[in-house]
Amino acid sequence: MPELPEVETVRRGLERWVVGKKFSQVRALHPRVLNPHSIAPLEVLEGARVKSVERRGKFLWFLLNRPETLVAHLGMSGQFLIQPIATGEVRHLRASFMLGSWGRSARQMQFIDQRTFGWLAVDQLQDGIPTLVQHIARDPFDQEFNRKAIIAKIASRKTQIKKALLDQSIMSGVGNIYADESLWRAKIHPESYCEELSNAQIGRVIDKARQVMAQALEVGGTSFDDLYINVNGESGYFERSLAVYGQEGEPCPRCGREIRRIIFANRSSHFCPTCQAR
Ligand SMILES: [Zn+2]
Repeated sequence: MPELPEVETVRRGLERWVVGKKFSQVRALHPRVLNPHSIAPLEVLEGARVKSVERRGKFLWFLLNRPETLVAHLGMSGQFLIQPIATGEVRHLRASFMLGSWGRSARQMQFIDQRTFGWLAVDQLQDGIPTLVQHIARDPFDQEFNRKAIIAKIASRKTQIKKALLDQSIMSGVGNIYADESLWRAKIHPESYCEELSNAQIGRVIDKARQVMAQALEVGGTSFDDLYINVNGESGYFERSLAVYGQEGEPCPRCGREIRRIIFANRSSHFCPTCQAR
């Protein structure tokens, strides 16, 4: 599932291709592409011009020259591709936005989603943030991210650290891959209770989350199963640098002990039993 580095890679690609462009034709091609909370069908955005592409955590939205905004969530397998106007059939194409006027150089922004957990929505802005993104906390790359306040918030949770890290209403952007990697880097067991951890340890987890996501962003994110690609159709290659995620049975890059996988909160958690002893 795309996490912050993958979504930011997509945002940067979209920014390059769509800012200043007009959605000259909009087509929704699958009933599930429209979020049920959308205030209108996607087609109402025909004629809107894109001012910027924004992101918070794993959510994207397009600021337009109108009060409405287009919000996107990639879900498990959503992709945006910028392509020349399609002539043949495009597999799993859920929505298409023609950019600018017809002509030889005309391009289309395509939303492709094999597993249909991704969605698009027409939404309104409240203080610059779409209604659908209001419950999402700032991510560690946000200029107004308040590290101290987040440490206090996590410390007060009566839950395990990994659950707190995945809670998008505390800090956004981190999903299963980068949670496991951050905890390994910070040498914290995923099942440690937040109240067992010192503020310094929680701070270290947050810093490592930011660090690992920044490094992933530099190489275009992690592409696990070809479902995530950037707007040019290229994969990221951070999976080569993953220390624990998907590495069950492999040696820990730090101590050589076998990486273990446990099921935790209905998802896999990967960790080193020596480096991340409880
Ligand atoms: Zn180790």
